[in-house]
Amino acid sequence: MKKILTILGARPQFIKASVVSHAIAQTSGLAEVLVHTGQHFDANMSDVFFDELGMNKPDHLLGVHGGTHGAMTGRMLEAVEQVLLAERPDAVLVYGDTNSTLAGALAAVKLHIPVAHVEAGLRSFNMVMPEEVNRILTDRISRWLFTPTRAAAEHLRREGAAPHGIVEVGDVMYDVALHHGRRVQHDGGAMARLGLAQKGYVLATIHRAENTDDPRRLAAIVDALQATARQLPVVWPLHPRTRAVLQQVGRLQSLAGAVRLVEPVGYLDMVQLEKYAALIATDSGGVQKEAFFHRVPCVTLRDETEWVELLQSGWNRLAPPTDAESVAAAIWAALGSEGADLQPYGCGDAAQRIARRLAEDLAWP
Ligand code: UDP
Repeated sequence: MKKILTILGARPQFIKASVVSHAIAQTSGLAEVLVHTGQHFDANMSDVFFDELGMNKPDHLLGVHGGTHGAMTGRMLEAVEQVLLAERPDAVLVYGDTNSTLAGALAAVKLHIPVAHVEAGLRSFNMVMPEEVNRILTDRISRWLFTPTRAAAEHLRREGAAPHGIVEVGDVMYDVALHHGRRVQHDGGAMARLGLAQKGYVLATIHRAENTDDPRRLAAIVDALQATARQLPVVWPLHPRTRAVLQQVGRLQSLAGAVRLVEPVGYLDMVQLEKYAALIATDSGGVQKEAFFHRVPCVTLRDETEWVELLQSGWNRLAPPTDAESVAAAIWAALGSEGADLQPYGCGDAAQRIARRLAEDLAWP
């Protein structure tokens, strides 16, 4: 039996792991140990996903969160190393682009444990983003580069990654949307709790540091959503980081009077809110794609996106939040728009492909 040690820490990683861990469990010759770094720790940012998506509880809880990037990553590195020394896995599996991803990959490679990176090869070409730094470094030290899109595989080839390490599997988020998203209907759930009509509201999420930590960009987004809410209800599940900043700059109270601010919701509630929204405005990578999976027009509140296929499809457009007027105009222009029916994210079997490939490669001495 080969032991895969999976490192999770942030909301989107729990969601992605829900399908990959399931596939690992179904693959003979593989066993999995789950490590939760603690990066996201609130019940509604962590536990809800393990419960709803039928995941095993983590075997190790490291309880590392908060602090600067360096401090957080450093503490994780030390804590993950201890677990690796005790568990002695055959491979370490990491997801995406967070500090947990980088700390897990770095701790493993220093102990000569091969690293598998799910969502390899994505690039924004913006090194100011902490995510870009994390993903580039993680790709560089990973043995398996499981890519979600053709563009991601091309980036890795251009950077000189070993060709046999690049495994084009498709996007595990698409697997999740197919697997769990199907369970979601318009009745009950968050829509009923919030009294929302099908296609009668805008859904917003904001959490990227480039928006929350830049007062001008944050103000542009808040003002634009407030203006939109005068015409159409706006529902905004608030990421803890965004809530803290809005509180700090004194915008939380007035915003709450205009926009439907809610706590972060579980995955099934989120899919429902996405599926039946008239439009989604977001800076989230996962939410941009889910908008496309459910064929809902999306405005991405960023200067660029790693998910360039979404722009090509026409279901998504960029609205850099430089001023409120341009963001509000982008939202109005996108309402009711449609895009092309592309399928750039694989066939919904990325998780099985990952598990199969790991089992095959690890079967060799
Ligand atoms: N999500 C959720 N509840 C929320 C907001 C987001 O379940 O209140 C889900 C969303 O459906 C998607 C994932 O979280 O699957 C995206 O995570 P996030 O936006 O935190 O990170 P990113 O995708 O930008 O890395």
